[in-house]
Amino acid sequence: MGRLLIVEDHAGLQDLLVRGLARAGIAADCARTASEASACIATVRYAAILLDRGLPDGDGVRWLRSLRTERITVPCLMLTARDALHDRIDGLEAGADDYLAKPFEMAELVARIRALMRRQASWVGLAATYGDVTIDPASAELRRGHASVTLSAAELQLMLALMRAQGAVVRRSALEAAAWGLSEPVTPNALDVALHRIRRKLVALGSRLELRNTKGIGHALVERIEDA
Ligand code: CA
Repeated sequence: MGRLLIVEDHAGLQDLLVRGLARAGIAADCARTASEASACIATVRYAAILLDRGLPDGDGVRWLRSLRTERITVPCLMLTARDALHDRIDGLEAGADDYLAKPFEMAELVARIRALMRRQASWVGLAATYGDVTIDPASAELRRGHASVTLSAAELQLMLALMRAQGAVVRRSALEAAAWGLSEPVTPNALDVALHRIRRKLVALGSRLELRNTKGIGHALVERIEDA
């Protein structure tokens, strides 16, 4: 079974959740804020998210909506303090798959998380091809012939944006929006770090595609012309 991401700012509850879920054999990472959660999502492919609605840097519902905008469809269970109908509707409309009101029984939470984690986390979108590589959003794999590498959530969105541009320069702001949606990039150089990883993966695949940097403007994915 994959890992769970717990997004909860209340230290006591976070601790209770981690221990309760660990006893049920569910490994979890914790984020205290929406921006910490975005950083986790950008680096690890989670099987499910347990999301508190009230976070120090914003509304969990809003963060979830930005995730869905980025086409990140990791199943999500929302926790809210109140069992109010509008809270439930907000959460479900933002893309939550399930809902549990505080206070809750640990046994019920475990059962619901298990059900969510059994679901295959799916990445909406069709396969895209450009140059000598194909990207499969369903598995987040970049392939060339029989070789393949796995992309992180941010790398996947960056590659899709660059491949759709078909060699044209994509502005840095557009790339950041593609990779991180409405949330702030994790660090000021997060984009450069992700592009560096993509560059290395293209080399690992032996692809003829290369990332070209147009200083101050953006980046383009271009096909290298081999010397005759
Ligand atoms: Ca909270």
